[in-house]
Amino acid sequence: MSADTPGSQSSLHRANLERVLRAVRMAGSLTQAEIARTTGLSAATVSNIVRELKEVGTVVVTPTSSGGRRARSVSLSADAGIVVGVDFGHSHLRVAVGNLAHRVLAEESEPIDTDASADQGFGRAETLVARLLEQTGFRTDKVIGVGLGVPGPIDGETGALGSTAILPGWTGIAPGRELSSRLGMPVYVDNDANLGALGELVWGAGRGLSDLAYIKVASGVGAGLVISGQIYRGPGGTAGEIGHITLDESGPVCRCGNRGCLETFVGSRHVLNLLASSHGTDLTLSRVVQLAQRGDLGCRRVLADVGRQIGTGVANLCNLLNPRRVILGGDLAEAGDLVLDPIRESVARYAIPSAARQLSVVPGTLGGRAEVLGALALVMSEMGDSGALSSTEGRDSGRSVAVVPSGR
Ligand SMILES: [Zn+2]
Repeated sequence: MSADTPGSQSSLHRANLERVLRAVRMAGSLTQAEIARTTGLSAATVSNIVRELKEVGTVVVTPTSSGGRRARSVSLSADAGIVVGVDFGHSHLRVAVGNLAHRVLAEESEPIDTDASADQGFGRAETLVARLLEQTGFRTDKVIGVGLGVPGPIDGETGALGSTAILPGWTGIAPGRELSSRLGMPVYVDNDANLGALGELVWGAGRGLSDLAYIKVASGVGAGLVISGQIYRGPGGTAGEIGHITLDESGPVCRCGNRGCLETFVGSRHVLNLLASSHGTDLTLSRVVQLAQRGDLGCRRVLADVGRQIGTGVANLCNLLNPRRVILGGDLAEAGDLVLDPIRESVARYAIPSAARQLSVVPGTLGGRAEVLGALALVMSEMGDSGALSSTEGRDSGRSVAVVPSGR
């Protein structure tokens, strides 16, 4: 069919449509001038495409002002579709339902037992998704896709969850396929650090940026890397394993089998061990942060050491990837400058000055919601545009999505 011939007028037109839609979807709303800047398309092309998308009801255009001048703000229509986010953590399950105009319509979290089987976990997720969809009044056929976050690496080819210290009974399971067959919806799956990065990129401390790293410190330590506006996963899905940077070749043995990894110095178990003899054994990371903020010297010292060690990892990351911003997520982010200043000091000491100069190190602004909001953003990022465009051209875009282990 001529429409699919690469380089033909209509395939070029479709590619431009997709670029415009993707830009709007990831930003929530953009003026036409911003769309032109983001996509590199001419103002006239953007104007034509926006008019076409408005006619079929895919986008809405509202008058606004930009720099004191009248402008037109473009966002996706609120009934263009619904996205669902599901985030499994160490001890919680969180679900959110949102629309493509970036409004979160319903959100809930509940505790889950660390030892729960994958089967029990997915059962709980299924129930919670159904309840939230009912609350919002949308039928399941309005759901474009479900983003699923799990605390471990996902194999890009098999969709299987790699070794995770956090959900021990889940290793080897393909969580996307499992949830997809239960819900009867396409499921896009990713690890918690990547989703935290996407969440902060779209809704939080990374808005408007295209190059950032999100660092999550909990029992494990991982980074989500956004390069040129896209999550970088690497062929095996393990990019961003910053927790296994070697700090001390003769240090403690890590769960990866190596010695002296960053994680062995800053992971929550190690941090709590350091304080066990002085502060007791029932501490949590967020309690350590609270105590430090109230002036507890031991907790302050530990957080400063943790910050310096994370900073060494961040300095390495800066030299390799030169991100504009590093966002600290997880419980440690609550400590603010008590942990961020030592990170900044290490970066100043160990990173190449030209890589460190443009860098800001900031706490995440979404707290424990970063991953579930990132799961919504994952669907928006990966969904392709066949659904939104079908009313204009009536065909499938045929774009393959690497992380859709849909069971259907
Ligand atoms: Zn390791």
